[in-house]
Amino acid sequence: NQANGKQTTHQGQLDKDKNKGNGKNRFFVGGRKKEGKSKTNGQSSGLGMEGANYHKYPVTNDYRISRKVLGVGINGKVVECEHRRSGEKYALKVLRDVPKARREVDLHSAASGHSHVVKVVDVYENTYNDVQCLLVVMESMKGGELFTRIQQRGQQAFTEREGASIMYDICSAVQHLHRQNIAHRDIKPENLLYTDENENASLKLTDFGFAKKTDESDPNGLATACFTPYYCAPEVLGAEKYDKSCDLWSIGVVMYILLCGYPPFYSAHGQPMSPGMKAKIRTGQYTFPSPEWDCVSEAAKDLIRKLLKTDPSQRYTIQQTMEHKWITHYKKVPDTPLFTTGILNEQKEHWGEMQEEMEKNLASMRVVNENVQIKNLAESNNRLLQKRKQQQLKPADVITEA
Ligand code: ADP
Repeated sequence: NQANGKQTTHQGQLDKDKNKGNGKNRFFVGGRKKEGKSKTNGQSSGLGMEGANYHKYPVTNDYRISRKVLGVGINGKVVECEHRRSGEKYALKVLRDVPKARREVDLHSAASGHSHVVKVVDVYENTYNDVQCLLVVMESMKGGELFTRIQQRGQQAFTEREGASIMYDICSAVQHLHRQNIAHRDIKPENLLYTDENENASLKLTDFGFAKKTDESDPNGLATACFTPYYCAPEVLGAEKYDKSCDLWSIGVVMYILLCGYPPFYSAHGQPMSPGMKAKIRTGQYTFPSPEWDCVSEAAKDLIRKLLKTDPSQRYTIQQTMEHKWITHYKKVPDTPLFTTGILNEQKEHWGEMQEEMEKNLASMRVVNENVQIKNLAESNNRLLQKRKQQQLKPADVITEA
C-alpha cells in the first residue's frame, strides 16, 4: 500500500533523526508516541488520556508548506505540505488553538493508530500574527471521497460484496474508537476518504471536529441522563452510550446509500422530503424500494434495520454490528451487482441536499445529547436505576457501564 510505504519512509527518517540525537524529534507517528511526554506546554485538554505531542518550534523547520489546497472545511483549508528531509507529501490542517481544537487533535491522534483512520503524523503549536494556531500534519488522502469513487466507476457495477468489505473497514475503525471510548459523532460520506486512486487504496475515517470522549466523569457527579424521547428512550441509555449510538446511526445511513445510491428517509429516488424529513427519521419511516433493493440480501436489510432503529437503546452497538453475519462473513456476501453507481450519477444534483440533510440530523443528535437534563440519581424514579441503587453499585458503574 502506497500510503503505508510512505509512512514507513518518513518513520525511517524520523528514527534516523532521533538516533542523531538532535533532540528535536519528539515525534508522534502513526498514533504512537516515540518519546517524550505527551504534553510539552503544560496545557491540558482535560481528557485524562494521552493527547497529541505538540511541537513548539515552527512547522516550517520540518515541512515546506505548499499553496496547493486539498480541501476546504468549516474550520478552514487543508493544504499540501512536504517533509523537508524525506520529500514525502502530507496534508496540513490549520486550526485556531482553542479548547475544541485541542480536543479534536488529541482525539484524532489517540485514534490514529488504526489502518482505517487517517494518520496524524505531527502536531505543532505556532503563533501567526499573534494568533495561536494548531497545525496538524496528516497523511495525505489522494483518492477522494467514498461515494465520488463509486460514482466514477463507469461500466463496472458495484457489488454487494464490495459494499460489505467497505462496511467492514468502516466498522473496524469505529470499533477501534469506541473501544477507546471515543465517539466520532460526524461519520458521513465526506469524512470517508481514500488514500490514493489505486484499486487497492484504503478507505479511512477523518475529521474528529465533533469527536467526544465518552467516559469523562460527569461534572454533576452522581447523575444519569433523562430527556424527552426524541431519538432516545429516557433514562435507559447513559450519555456515553448515546454518543456512541450516533455513530451506529451514521453507519446505517452510509450502508444504506452504499447499497442503493440514495439515503433512507428519502422519497422514491428523486425528491428529497425536506419538510417531513425530521418526522420520518423520528418515526423511522424508510423502506427498501423496488427494484434497487430487490436483489439485496436479507442479511444486509436485517443489519440496516438494526442500525436505523430510532430508539438508540434498541440500536445495535458496534460490537453487535461486528458480530452480524453480513459483516463477519463480508467475503462471502453475494457478489450481486447493485444500482448504486447509476443512481449516484442520476442523483448528482441532489447530493448537496442529501449531505446537508445528513449533517442536520447529526447536528440534532449531538444537540439532544448536549441538552440532556441531568437529574440526580437520588431524584430519579427510574426502576432500573432504583434496582441498581439497591444493589449498592458504585456511581461510576451506572454511568460508564458498557
Ligand atoms: P473541517 O473540520 O474544517 O470540516 P476537514 O477535516 O473535514 O475540515 O477537511 C476539509 C476538507 O479537506 C475535506 O473535506 C477534504 O476534502 C480535505 N482533507 C481533509 N483531510 C485531508 C487529508 N488528510 N488528505 C487530503 N485531503 C484532506
